[in-house]
Order: sequence, then structure tokens, then C-alpha cells
Amino acid sequence: MIDVSDLSKSYGRIEALRGVTFHIRPGEIVGLLGPNAAGKTTILKILTGYLQPDRGAVTVDGLDVLTNTRAVQARIGYLPENAPLYPELSVQAYLMMIAELRQIPETERGNRISEAVYAAGLTEHLARPIGQLSKGFRQRVGLAQAILHKPKLLILDEPTVGLDPTQIVEVRGLIRRLAEHSTVLFSSHILSEVEALCHRAIILINGEVKADARLADLEQTANAVLVLQARTDGVEKALRGLRGARGIEATRTSDGYPAYRVLGQINSDLCPAIFDLARQSQWPVRELRRDVKTLEAVFNQLATTA
Ligand code: ATP
Repeated sequence: MIDVSDLSKSYGRIEALRGVTFHIRPGEIVGLLGPNAAGKTTILKILTGYLQPDRGAVTVDGLDVLTNTRAVQARIGYLPENAPLYPELSVQAYLMMIAELRQIPETERGNRISEAVYAAGLTEHLARPIGQLSKGFRQRVGLAQAILHKPKLLILDEPTVGLDPTQIVEVRGLIRRLAEHSTVLFSSHILSEVEALCHRAIILINGEVKADARLADLEQTANAVLVLQARTDGVEKALRGLRGARGIEATRTSDGYPAYRVLGQINSDLCPAIFDLARQSQWPVRELRRDVKTLEAVFNQLATTA
């Protein structure tokens, strides 16, 4: 549904994106996760045809965004960071205006608005001026306008920013429901949000993709950590020979003990085999544990080494 290849964009001297590449399949719900100024909004603006990249290719549903901008925009529902809502208009009048702009045939407008308003949980607020709605409800209006034309792809820029905890839960629920019918790409700097909503997280730091992982794979990729009382000959070589070990990282714990992280395969637990090996070899074991990778661990590691 989305193919982004080697995308770069600078604002003057600021390199906002540096060779970004990723692909999103139809039906996926993907979180673009990154700290402030990572380049998330820049990517979303390029995908939606509101900004030109300096280099790289972007296609949406097989169409080149740069040469088929209108056709791409017709396939996308976009919730920008600060959705331009008109406070004096009622929800109904605003959505009617968007329906016209989207060139939805007049005979269909009523139905489309009813469906979008129902999906966004706004049915009882149709007549209210947008300016009188709470921030959470204004965000729902933003989402309703994004889905009015039944887009194949929803692009949401920080959809829950500035909402209170109850509103966050509501808007997340809404996004989950919308994802049943569309591919969804949203940006966030909140880890728990990405974990709660996504199949996949693309981690962007300083304009570069630092990780792109299915969350289920992350959770199931079990590494093992072995800490010894003292440095011992042959440990690394023996661990390397273990069935299922993809690699070894030799380090030290913060209090100076030799430590080995044995990288495992998806759905594997290397601890029993390491335990047997350590007993047979009489290694002075201090600690042996599984080290399940969470998104938080990956993100923190990347953010601190960036
Ligand atoms: P945030 O989470 O804070 O919204 P972001 O990940 O969405 O950040 P971008 O808004 O894409 O990041 O910004 C990436 C970098 O580009 C930042 O350093 C930002 O200051 C810079 N930038 C973005 N827009 C402009 C602009 N119009 N002119 C100059 N610099 C810009």
C-alpha cells in the first residue's frame, strides 16, 4: 500500500530525512515512532503530497505521489497534527463542506456523513459548533473528516496528542475500529500507544529508520543473558556452537562481571541448553536469564545510542 524508497528531505541546513525506506502492506496498522524532531511529520506530509522530497520515490496504492498527487490524495484520509477545523461551523456543516471538497456526489453525502459520524461517535453532537467541543471530540471530528470518502489508507499525525487519558482510550478504540477497513499509518512518540495499536513499529531517529519490526516478533525474540563470576576461557566459543544461537554479544555488567547475550531465534528459549553447557563446563555462573525484547527496550537502546 505504501512504498517509500531512499527518501531525503532538508529544510535549509536541517536534514529532516536521510535515506528513509519502508514498505507497508494493505491491512497493516503501523506506528511511526520517534522522538521530537525525528522527521515523522515530514514523512507524513510527503506521503500525502503536501511536501516534495529532495530525493527518493514514494508510491501509494501503486501510484507515484509526486506525479499522481490528486489520485493519491483521493485514496488517503489524513489527520494532520493540527487539523484545520472551523470553530464557528457545526459538525454537520463542517463535514458537509469537506464532502463537497472531496467531491462526494451530492446524493451520497448524507449517508457518508452519517456513517463517518457514527464511526467517530459524534452522532449526538452533529448540531454543535466545533469551537464548543472538547479537545477529544474535536479530534473525533478530525477523524470523521479523514474517513468521509472511505479511504483505503489512513494517515494520522500524533492522533492522541494533547488528549486526557479517557479521551486517549476513546480515540485509540476508534482508530482500532477504523483499521478494520483501512490500512493505517500513524505517528507517535508514545511507546505504549504504538504497542497498544500496531502490528508493526518503524522507529525513526534523526531522520533515519533505525528499526522496523513486527511487535509479535519482538516479543517472541528471546535472547538469553549469562553472567559469570569471573572471566573463563572458551565461553564465547562454546556459546557460539549452541543450536539456535544467532550471535553472541560479550559485555560486562555495570558492576564489572563478564556477561554474554546469546541472541535467540523467534519463539526459542536458549536458557536450558546454556544451563546444561555451563554445568558440564563448570563455569562459575552468577546469573542466567531470558531477555525478552520489548519495544521500549529497543527504542531506549536506539534513542540513547543515536
Ligand atoms: P515532533 O514529534 O516534534 O512533531 P517530528 O518527528 O514530526 O517531530 P518533523 O516535524 O518532521 O519531526 O521535523 C523534523 C526536523 O525538521 C526538525 O528538526 C524540525 O525542526 C525541522 N523542520 C520541520 N519543518 C520545518 C520547516 N518548515 N522549516 C524548517 N525546519 C523544519
